[in-house]
Amino acid sequence: MHKLLQRQLKRTLKDEAFETENNVLLQSISDAYSQNEQTLKMLERSLFLTSNELNERNETLKNQLASMEHVQAQLKHSLGLLQATFDSTGEIVLVYDLEGELISFNSMGKAFFNDINLTEVTTWKAFLDYLQDRDQLLLLVEELKEDPLKDLSGTLAMRDTRYFSFRSLPQIQEGKLTGRVWCFHDVTLQKQHEATIQYQAYHDSLTGLPNRALLLDRIKHSLAIAKREKNKLAILFLDLDNFKKVNDSEGHEAGDKLLQEVVRRLQTRLREQDTLSRQGGDEFVILLENIQSENAVTSICQDILALLKMPFDIATRQHYVTASIGIAVYPSDDDNASALIRKADLAMYQSKAAGKNGLHFYSHEVESNALQQLAIEQALRKAVSNGELHLEYQPKVDLASMQISSLEALCRWQRPNGDRVSPDVFIAIAEQTGLITDIGQMVITKTCQQIAKWNQLDICKTTVSINLSSLEFQSEILIKHLIDSLERFNIEGSQLIIELTESIFMEDKDSIKETMLMLNKLGITFALDDFGKGYSSFSYLQFLPLHYLKVDKAFLQDIQSNAQSSTIAKTIIDIGHNLGLSVIAEGIEDQFMLDYVTAHKCNIGQGFFLHKPMMPEAATPLLPKLHTELGDML
Ligand code: C2E
Ligand code: CA
Ligand code: CA
Repeated sequence: MHKLLQRQLKRTLKDEAFETENNVLLQSISDAYSQNEQTLKMLERSLFLTSNELNERNETLKNQLASMEHVQAQLKHSLGLLQATFDSTGEIVLVYDLEGELISFNSMGKAFFNDINLTEVTTWKAFLDYLQDRDQLLLLVEELKEDPLKDLSGTLAMRDTRYFSFRSLPQIQEGKLTGRVWCFHDVTLQKQHEATIQYQAYHDSLTGLPNRALLLDRIKHSLAIAKREKNKLAILFLDLDNFKKVNDSEGHEAGDKLLQEVVRRLQTRLREQDTLSRQGGDEFVILLENIQSENAVTSICQDILALLKMPFDIATRQHYVTASIGIAVYPSDDDNASALIRKADLAMYQSKAAGKNGLHFYSHEVESNALQQLAIEQALRKAVSNGELHLEYQPKVDLASMQISSLEALCRWQRPNGDRVSPDVFIAIAEQTGLITDIGQMVITKTCQQIAKWNQLDICKTTVSINLSSLEFQSEILIKHLIDSLERFNIEGSQLIIELTESIFMEDKDSIKETMLMLNKLGITFALDDFGKGYSSFSYLQFLPLHYLKVDKAFLQDIQSNAQSSTIAKTIIDIGHNLGLSVIAEGIEDQFMLDYVTAHKCNIGQGFFLHKPMMPEAATPLLPKLHTELGDML
């Protein structure tokens, strides 16, 4: 029986029989008590559990709230960061919805609108009037209508000359296209930089002229037109003749100025459609389009030569630089751009070889000459280093006494196969290739050495003349070598005569005179060679400290058969005498010539009729003996 029921019964019932009699009833009450108690316990337990759960839930909620606050703070932070990033991408970012309406932009976007004074930006169309090419944007938008998910990129040119590169990407949220994001980046500087690089790649930095690459392009283009329209075009290859000298003597800055002045002069003669280009150094190529005839080209070239022949006032002095021009013509010479340039170049070499300051058209002969020239050039290079060159000496005779008064050293090149190459050929090539300095040094050394040898013998002091081209005479190295050689071989300056040609008149006469006077002080004298052949100018003859005048051999050639030649020869001899110079007649080939020059009071004679050029050993016995001279005097 339930304990509580027992206690209640005990307290209230005195009669124990009641208990026994109502046992069944009491038992069910007791069960009810127990059941009730059970239910109560369960209820208690349930209450206990619920309260626990509530506490836990409460805790979780609290935690969740805290973490949500944290997330919110983080979100706010991220959003701030995102906005900052959005603003600091260095790009203009514009976001449009599907209708093309602007829905968002970053601070650079805003600055950009201010910049272009765009107050009302609602749709992309607002930009059309600011673009150099409206159609470009219109086409892009068309493209997007066809394929809205497309990624786009490119460059837009603004009317204010700015350039913007752009990217445009679809904006997708939860799998759905909601609009587009456009990013713009100002690439104006980059574009300018690219343009500069592009310009530099196709232009010469000194003159701003097209360079070879651009020229080739233009020639190709012109050739295509000329082919279609059956026109002719000409390529002129122009090389300055004396540029190196200006550069060497006045410095590169002066050289640059001269080149710029050359360009200015050339431009005055060319037409708008012609292309003048610089190949580098002192080489220019000119493309003449649509030419009528070769005569027309010749006339342009002659004008150019005349323009360049005029003195250049550079660095306090006047400089003379002539030009050599080679010409190749389409269609007769070639139909290929590079080949035309090459052929014009070959023709230019022909002009150089023919004495510079001239023009030559390309021909097959030019080609074979050039190849031959190249072969000689290579052989000469070897000959100089292998010592294949030697000197022969041609005696000059005093026409009054018929005694040998001096000798002329003449350079000889005998090739290993026995062939002799004329100095007229190899000296010109040596000048073009710079080998002339080596040859000049050899000539000076050998001549001085030979004079020293003759000085040891029982003969009168021998005087020898050497030939120096104007290029050689202006070489500081050679002049120094000459002075050093006098000392090294212990010979007197008066034993040397330098023969210069009239081409020296083309040079800077002040500095030529200076060198001549300096060498004069050492006893060296000067002869003007080949007089009458070239650029004679009497004022120059008086200006330079000359002692001898060598009448060019051409004047004696036909005095016998041609009365006019005879008069000219006489006039030239008279000029020499009137200038107070000793006159030398060269190229005396027979008795008639000898009689003629003697009758006209030439002082000295030289020629095959008197003596041929010979080896020094052969000349020695011909030289006047010292004791005979003394004997004569006694
Ligand atoms: P050039 O100075 O006028 O030399 C005289 C030339 O006339 C020499 O020719 C000589 O051999 C030639 N000759 C001599 N007598 C007669 C004659 O009676 N009749 C004819 N027709 N010719 C005669 P070469 O030796 O062939 O020299 C030719 C030119 O080469 C020289 O002319 C000179 O300008 C140049 N040359 C020679 N040697 C040198 C040198 O060492 N240095 C330089 N720079 N030039 C030189
Ligand atoms: Ca000579
Ligand atoms: Ca001569």
